Amino acid sequence: MRQPLIAGNWKMNGSKAETVELLNGIKAGIGEVTASEVAVCPPFPYLYLAEDMLKGTAIRYGSQDCSREESGAFTGQVSAAMLQDFGCTYAILGHSERRLFNAETDAIIARKYAVVVSHGLTPILCVGETLEEREQGKTEEVVARHLDAVLESAGAEALAKGVIAYEPVWAIGTGVTATPEQAQEVHAFLRERIAKKSAEVAAGVRILYGGSMKPGNALELMAQADIDGGLIGGAALKAADFLAICKAG
Ligand code: 13P
Repeated sequence: MRQPLIAGNWKMNGSKAETVELLNGIKAGIGEVTASEVAVCPPFPYLYLAEDMLKGTAIRYGSQDCSREESGAFTGQVSAAMLQDFGCTYAILGHSERRLFNAETDAIIARKYAVVVSHGLTPILCVGETLEEREQGKTEEVVARHLDAVLESAGAEALAKGVIAYEPVWAIGTGVTATPEQAQEVHAFLRERIAKKSAEVAAGVRILYGGSMKPGNALELMAQADIDGGLIGGAALKAADFLAICKAG
């Protein structure tokens, strides 16, 4: 059985005060979440608040990115060792916003994946097609390319140490969610592709859905056979909404 994971990707939002308020809100309600594992991914500067405030709770936390370098003259970057130092469990990698705004390629993301795994962190590898790619019938080709970048370089064993998030770009922050059937189709495709390398890894790896997941649609999405939780953007910024999604998991 794969335990559902609900992870909040806070993106570049919040202040110190808002982070404290949000973490307190999630902590206050976490006792009612029984089945899902819960994680939050605040911006880098607020990871110390997560470390401090989530101590002794079941809530895990992680980063939204990680450097592909170990250390050294890489101005502005944050290393896997630093994330580990702050008690992170997860590191989101290859989010479409980083692919788009930071020109991250599959090769860069694969390298980050290997670095993150080597430091004992769990990568959350994002894959997903744009609207144009979907309309051209290229969804499977695109998500296969995103997946294969890691699967072919790091192997199925490394994939087993991570989590995958299917995030159709057209559903991110748009309010347009993939239908449960659309999402399930891609999740099943990804799992089958992994199964060609290792049936065991395919059966065990968690594949989250991300893209306008909200309290109102979380249940039907997560009811799908191959959807093992969610990577939540906007709805993760309100404790009540985030907790409602966590309870659906
Ligand atoms: P939204 O939930 O705001 O659509 O964002 C999804 C996302 O990008 C999570 O990483």
